Amino acid sequence: MANPSAVTGTDSRPDRRGDVERLRNFIGGRWVVPDVTDYLDVHNPALGTVIARTPMSGAADVDAAVTAATEAFPSWSETPPAARARHLFKFRALLEEHLDELARLVTTEHGKTLDEARGSLRRAIECVEVACGAPSLMMGYGLENIAFEIDCQVVRQPIGVCAAIAPFNFPAMVPLWFLPFAIVTGNTFVLKPSEQVPLTQRRILELLERCDVPPGVVNLVNGGREVVEAICDHPGIRAVSFVGSTPVARAVYQRASHAGKRVQALGGAKNFDIVMPDANLDRTISMVVESFYGCAGERCLAGSVFVPVGSVYQEARERLVESARALRVGDGLEPGVDMGPVISAKHRERVTSYIQKGVTEGATLALDGRQISVANRPDGFFVGPTVFDRVAPSMEIGRDEIFGPVASILPAKDLDEVFRLMDAHPNANATSIFTSSGKTAREFSHRATASMVGVNIGVASPVAYFPFGGARDSFFGDLKVHGRDAFEFYTDKKVTITRWL
Ligand code: NAD
Repeated sequence: MANPSAVTGTDSRPDRRGDVERLRNFIGGRWVVPDVTDYLDVHNPALGTVIARTPMSGAADVDAAVTAATEAFPSWSETPPAARARHLFKFRALLEEHLDELARLVTTEHGKTLDEARGSLRRAIECVEVACGAPSLMMGYGLENIAFEIDCQVVRQPIGVCAAIAPFNFPAMVPLWFLPFAIVTGNTFVLKPSEQVPLTQRRILELLERCDVPPGVVNLVNGGREVVEAICDHPGIRAVSFVGSTPVARAVYQRASHAGKRVQALGGAKNFDIVMPDANLDRTISMVVESFYGCAGERCLAGSVFVPVGSVYQEARERLVESARALRVGDGLEPGVDMGPVISAKHRERVTSYIQKGVTEGATLALDGRQISVANRPDGFFVGPTVFDRVAPSMEIGRDEIFGPVASILPAKDLDEVFRLMDAHPNANATSIFTSSGKTAREFSHRATASMVGVNIGVASPVAYFPFGGARDSFFGDLKVHGRDAFEFYTDKKVTITRWL
C-alpha cells in the first residue's frame, strides 16, 4: 500500500496540510512521508487541542525500515563496541542538554506533570549511561584446558535487526529502555512509538541524528496495529520488544515467537499496596498517594488496590481519602500541579465508566473524581482522584487494570489473606508493603509473586542497571528489560573450542 520511497530530505520539517503538522517516518537516515491517507490526531490532553497527526503506516513502511536496517547491519555490527558507545556518549550529552525541552514535550503530548516528565527523562538518560558500559558488559568468558590443550571461549555477537513497540504512558523513557542497548551491542533497530504520543520520539531521533550514527542503524515507523503485526511477521526482524496492555502483549508474544523471533512482551498490571498496622502512616500515606495518583495512575507500577491490614484500616482509609482530595489537578505544565489529565477523551470515558461500574457493583465511593473542573482548561481530559472502599476482588474495579486515578480499598485481616488476594489475580507486576517490621518485610518480599517489590517504597521501579519486568500475565518472555538482561537479549553467545595442532 504505502510508497516508502517518497523521500523528501534529511530533515523533519513539518509536512503541513491544513494547520496541523503531519509526522513522517525516519528510514535509512531520512525523514520520509509515508504514502498513507489515514492519520490519527495527537492531542494536548490538558487543552483537548490537536497538536499533530500520526501517519498510520503499513507493512510496506516496515519493510522499508527493515531493508535500511539490514543494509546498515554488516558495517555497524563490525564497529568496535567502544566506538559504538562513543556515539551514545554524545547522545547522552544532548539528551541532558535538552532535558527541559523534552520534558515539556512529554507533558504536552502525554499530560503528566513536568516533574514526572523530568523524572522519566532521567531514567531514559540512565539507560543510555548503562548501555555505554557495553565494552565491559558485552564481554564473554573462556576457560583453558577444558581437555588437555583444548581451550573454550564464549563471545557475544549482535543478532541482527531488532524492533521495539512502545505504549503511550512513557513517551521518552520506554523506547530508551531498548534503543541504546540494541544499537550499542551492534544490532540495528526499528522503533514504533505509540501513535498517541509520537512527538517526543521524533525529537529524540533528531538529537540522535546529530551523533553521527550511520543511516539505517535506527529507524522509526509511526502507526498502530498494522505496523505491529508487520513487525511480528517480518522475516528480517530477529527480536521484538513490546510494552503495553496484557491482551496485546500476549498476542505479540505469540505471533512474533511463532515467526521464530526472540520476544520480550511486558503487559498490564494490577498492583497491590499493603499497609501493616506497624507502618509509619505519615510517610506511608504520602508514598501511597504518589503511587496511586502519580502520572494520573497511567503507570504500570501505579498502586491500584490499597490493602490496609487489620487494625490500621479505619485510619489508613481516612488519611488516603483526605490526601487524595487535597491533590491539585491541572495542566502539568503549570507549577504546583500534582496530577495532570489522562491521555484522551476516550480514555477518560473508560476510566469514568469504571467508576460507574464500581458504584453499580456496590463498592462505597469515598471520593468521586468524575465532576472535576479545572480552571481555564475546560476541554482537558481530566479525572479527579477517586477512592472506592469495600471493594471485593470479584468486582470489575477490583480485577481490571483501570489505568487511571482510581484507588480500590480492599481490607485484609492478616498477611495470609493478602497473599490469597494477590495470588488470585493474574497480573503480578509490582507490589509494595509498608511496615516497620523487618521480619514482615522479608516474608513479604520472599513470598510475593510480583517481580518488582517495594518495602516502604511506593513505586518499586528498578533503576537501569537492574532488570525491569513483571511475572505471570504482566510479562511474556524470559529476559527482562535493561540491566544485564538487555545484553543477554540483544546478543547471541558463540562458543569456540580450540586445539592448536
Ligand atoms: P496498548 O496495548 O493499547 O498499546 C501498546 C502498543 O501496541 C502501541 O504501540 C499500539 O499502537 C499497539 N497496539 C494497540 N492495540 C494493538 C493491537 N490490537 N494489535 C497490535 N498492536 C496494538 O497499550 P497502551 O494503552 O499504549 O499503554 C498502556 C498499557 O501499557 C497498560 O496496560 C500498562 O500497564 C502497560 N504498560 C506496561 C509496562 C510494563 O513495564 N509492564 C510499562 C508501561 C505500560
